[in-house]
Amino acid sequence: TTEDQWRPFNRSGVYMADLESTLHYSLRLELAAHPVIKGEALSALQRYISVLAKYFPGRPVVRNLLKSVDTWLKGQNDTELSYSSLRDALDNTAEVPDAALPDGVRWVGCQGSKPHFRRYPCGMWILFHVLTVQAEEAAGKDPQEVLQAMRSYVHSFFGCRPCATHFENMVKDSMSHVGTLSTAMLWLWSSHNHVNNRLAGALSEDPHFPKIQWPSPELCPSCHGVKNGEHTWNQEELLTFLRSHFSSEHLLSDYLE
Ligand code: FAD
Repeated sequence: TTEDQWRPFNRSGVYMADLESTLHYSLRLELAAHPVIKGEALSALQRYISVLAKYFPGRPVVRNLLKSVDTWLKGQNDTELSYSSLRDALDNTAEVPDAALPDGVRWVGCQGSKPHFRRYPCGMWILFHVLTVQAEEAAGKDPQEVLQAMRSYVHSFFGCRPCATHFENMVKDSMSHVGTLSTAMLWLWSSHNHVNNRLAGALSEDPHFPKIQWPSPELCPSCHGVKNGEHTWNQEELLTFLRSHFSSEHLLSDYLE
């Protein structure tokens, strides 16, 4: 298959192929820009891999791989890590049975109308929305665990550095107030809408996928309300919608290898 082949998709679906592509891009391409990982970046990596190992709702073979990388990383006691040793763990050179992360990207719901639109940043958002929903489903203990993992990953590694700076400025005051797993889901939804609002009409916007305050009234009619003539979000309906939209049962498995 070529990377440029257009894959027809359902715009209201969430695709496992995008999540696996995001993991490939993040773990094999983005992190590879850091030959030595230490200090704050090493803690960021540990948190990221730890939430992936706990909550990534992937195929068994992918979950096994993430768990084996997490176990391996937790057993590393050095103050620094070389990317090449991490890469060996990701490629499973130790040949742990039934554990693998597919190589390459196959964007589906995150395809853009031009190659420089959407793709990995789109996948990153979806990955973390899915993880906040999974953390609640799995009755995670720490409501900030997934958000902190995203924050520190973006801060240390996200390739778009202006994005990372914007994101850090946006989260630094508000994130500490998140006290429940459902508030974490809403916090990420609301932060994402703030970014959508800032980027609407920007050059980075794919004209075929305009930035909106999401979800649209078509996607979730009951999420929207009007009070004193002003638009309001119905938070209970939104929570129900997010839990369903990003749930593991609703992940579409089209185009998987
Ligand atoms: P995306 O915004 O990537 O969203 C992906 C999908 O998520 C959408 O198609 C929709 O199905 C769903 N979605 C949309 N809104 C929400 C929501 N509120 N809650 C839940 N799901 C939703 N780009 C810049 O140009 N400048 C920046 O400063 C910048 N900062 C970024 C910071 C972070 C942390 C990330 C992950 C990305 C950032 N980007 C930035 C990229 C930008 O936000 C988009 O990811 C990119 O423009 C692709 O947009 P998209 O149309 O695929 O939709």
